[in-house]
Amino acid sequence: MSLTVVGSIAFDAVTTPYGERSRMLGGSAVHFSLAASFFDAVRVVGPVGDDFGAPEYAVLHDRGIDTSDIELVAGGKTFFWSGRYHEDLNRRDTLRTDLNVFEHFEPKLSEDSRAADLLFLANIQPDLQRQVAEQCPGARFVAMDSMNLWIEIAHDSLVETIQAVDCVILNDAELRQLTGKPNLVQAAREVRSWGPTAVVAKQGEYGAALLTGEGFFALPAFPLEHVQDPTGAGDSFAGGFMGSLAAHDGEIDHDALRVAMAYGTTLASFNVEEFGTERMQRLTADEIAARLDDLQRITRFDAAPVALRD
Ligand code: AMP
Repeated sequence: MSLTVVGSIAFDAVTTPYGERSRMLGGSAVHFSLAASFFDAVRVVGPVGDDFGAPEYAVLHDRGIDTSDIELVAGGKTFFWSGRYHEDLNRRDTLRTDLNVFEHFEPKLSEDSRAADLLFLANIQPDLQRQVAEQCPGARFVAMDSMNLWIEIAHDSLVETIQAVDCVILNDAELRQLTGKPNLVQAAREVRSWGPTAVVAKQGEYGAALLTGEGFFALPAFPLEHVQDPTGAGDSFAGGFMGSLAAHDGEIDHDALRVAMAYGTTLASFNVEEFGTERMQRLTADEIAARLDDLQRITRFDAAPVALRD
């Protein structure tokens, strides 16, 4: 199957209690693609500026990611985000968001990207997410992420995008904020009533929960002694989640989604071990398989493994 993602392609400045980076490759679509590239062919859609150069492309190409739908905006600057994490790494403050080339971006997908079986609308302005979804009418499973910024400044557009997808992946605070319902199960049920069949509530170091019409499922995060930088954990989770669905033979039902939760959890756990994309650039399929085994042992959840690509 094939997998297309639209989202931010970024430079990030990040400070955590364990160090800092003033300019590193990031962005929701980048973190997603690196994780998903272990499962299937991935195409990235999004704009970059003149400052996005050969070293950044190389990170994506080394993982076989198709960048032909990355649009270079001549004279423009790549999206920039800066954030600072607290001692409690589940808490972070956004210091700066410069949309830059995203301000006037109008996605135009190639035939290959439009033909995607699976589509992920990574965190970016919800109008843009919808413009991409409309260009992929044949996709058999569409999932999306978002964040508090869009809930605050583009609520109605975000709800319209949610109505058009099969699965919403948000963190628990965002689900509560979006629906105004303090109870997470009620919040997830409310989002399902808008259209999506599945809702995933990410809960940082506490794991993630899945709600579908067939029931409820939850996994803890993989227990790690050393976490350096949680940036992109949610996107790597989504990359493992969607990647495993792309590699799965058969219907995308509750069971397939439970296995996807295990792969999402596994990929996210690698991403947070180092800053930005540093750990994902060295990751191997064998390491993923070994950690999935560990996760299964710890949680006593038997996830039928899918084939991985090195
Ligand atoms: P996460 O830690 O999963 O929330 O994702 C962090 C990534 O999202 C960073 O690499 C940022 O570049 C990117 N990001 C932060 N804010 C935004 C935004 N408003 N729109 C799109 N991407 C963003």
